[in-house]
Amino acid sequence: TQTLHIVGGGMAGSEAAWQAANMGVNVVIHEMRPKVETFAHRTGHLAEMVCSNSFRSDDDEQNAVGLLHWEMRAANGLIMATADKHRLPAGGALAVDRDPFAESVTETLMAHPNISVEYGEITELPSEGHWIFATGPLTSTALGAAIQAETGADRLAFFDAIAPIVYADSIDMDVAWLQSRYDKGETEEEQKAYLNCPMSKDQYEAFIDALLAADKTEFHEGETAGYFDGCLPIEVMAERGRETLRFGPMKPVGLTNVHRPDDKPYAVVQLRRDNALGTLLNIVGFQTKMKYGAQTEVFKMIPGLENANFARLGGIHRNTFINSPTLLDDQMRLKSRPNIRFAGQVTGVEGYVESAAMGLLAGRLASAEILGHVLDTAPLNTAMGALVHHITGGAEAKTFQPMNVNFGLFQPVDGLKGGRRGRKDRYKAYTDRAKTDWQSWLAAQD
Ligand code: FAD
Repeated sequence: TQTLHIVGGGMAGSEAAWQAANMGVNVVIHEMRPKVETFAHRTGHLAEMVCSNSFRSDDDEQNAVGLLHWEMRAANGLIMATADKHRLPAGGALAVDRDPFAESVTETLMAHPNISVEYGEITELPSEGHWIFATGPLTSTALGAAIQAETGADRLAFFDAIAPIVYADSIDMDVAWLQSRYDKGETEEEQKAYLNCPMSKDQYEAFIDALLAADKTEFHEGETAGYFDGCLPIEVMAERGRETLRFGPMKPVGLTNVHRPDDKPYAVVQLRRDNALGTLLNIVGFQTKMKYGAQTEVFKMIPGLENANFARLGGIHRNTFINSPTLLDDQMRLKSRPNIRFAGQVTGVEGYVESAAMGLLAGRLASAEILGHVLDTAPLNTAMGALVHHITGGAEAKTFQPMNVNFGLFQPVDGLKGGRRGRKDRYKAYTDRAKTDWQSWLAAQD
C-alpha cells in the first residue's frame, strides 16, 4: 500500500491522519515540535490549541461554525469527538480543557495501527509520493521559503491584514450607493464595483476620535518582524495624523452621492465585494488591531452601517497562508504539483474548527485518490463545501485573506422573507439543506 505523508500534526494534520488511517491508508505524520519550536506552541503534543480554548458556537441550526461541528461529528471526526470528551461548561459555546484534549488526540493517533509519527522539520516540497502540508499559521521559515520558490513570492503571505467583512443585506442603501471612483471600468458592473458610505466633517472628526480612543490588541512577542506599511492598521494611520485616512482609504474624490448630489462628502468609506455571490463586502483598507467590541462600536458610526452585521471583524496576525484561489484545485491539490495537497489554516481558512475541517476533507480526498476511488469534493451547500469552495474558487484572489465559516458563503435559499425572523428561517433552511447533502456525500463513501 502507498503511504500518505502529512506534514504538521496540528488541528488539520491530526484530523487528516485519523480520516486517512480509518480508510485503510498508511499514514506518517511529520511534526517538527518539540525539536523546532514556534512562538505560540508550548508543548510537543499534536493538536495543541495555541490561544483560546474555544471551538465557538455549538448551535448547529443557527450558526455556521456549529454546523461545521455537526458535519465533522457525522464524519467520525477525531477533533470533535475529543473536544466533546473534554468539554468545559461554556453556555452555547464548545470550550475545551486544552491539555487533556491535546494529550488525548496524541495518544489516539499514536495508538492507531496505520499511523506513525516522525519528529522533525520538513523543508522541501517533495516531488514524489502523496503529501498533505498542514503546517499552519506558523509554518517554519525554511518550508515557507520552499513554498515561495514553488508558487512565487507573491502567493504566500506571512501576515493576514483582515478588514472587517459585512453582510451586504445589512447595509442601508438609502445612505450608501454603488460607484467606482471616477466611474472607472469597462462594464456597468465594474463602474459600480464599490459601495460608498459618505461622511460629513463632523462625522469624520468623531470617527477619528473614536479610532484613537478604541481598545487595541497588542502583538505577541516575536510576532511583528516584517509587518507594516503595506497593511497599516487604520488606527495607526489615524495616529500619524487626523487627515491621513482622508488622504488614504477614505479619500472622497471621484465620487458623487446619488442620494444628495449637491452635498460633497468630506470623507468616504468604501466597501468591495468579497465573494462571487456578492453577499459579503469588505471595508477597503480597514485592517485593524482594535478589539472586537470596539470594532463593532466604531464601524457602526459609519453612515449606512448603523445596523451592519459583520461576517467577520478585522485583525492583523502572524499568519502564513497561500493564495489558494489561484494555487489549489477543488481537490485541494497544488495545481503545479498535484502530488501535494494543502490543508488547514495555511490554505487561508481561519480558526481551529475550520482548520480541522479542511484536514478532514483533505484526508478523505487524498485517501480516496490513493485507493483509486473517485471522490468529489464536499458538496457546495454544506458548511465544509461552502468553505472549501470559497478558498479554492469563490474568493477574490487579488484580495484573498483568511476566512471563517459563515452563512455569507452559502448559496441563498429562495423564497424566504427578510428581517430578523426571516434570518432565523434562512439559517435553519441553510443548515437543514447542508445536513441532507452532507449525509448523502458521506453515505456514498460507505
Ligand atoms: P497548527 O495547529 O498550527 O498546526 C501546524 C503544525 O505544523 C504545528 O504543530 C507545527 O509545529 C507544524 N509545523 C510547521 N512547520 C512545519 C514543518 N516545516 N515541518 C513539520 N512540522 C511543521 N484559532 C482559533 O480558533 N482560536 C484562537 O484563539 C486562535 N488563536 C491563535 C493565536 C495565535 C498566536 C496563532 C498563531 C493562531 C491562532 N489561531 C486561533 C489560529 C490557529 O492556529 C489555527 O486556527 C489552528 O491551530 C490551525 O490549525 P492548523 O492545523 O492549520 O495549524
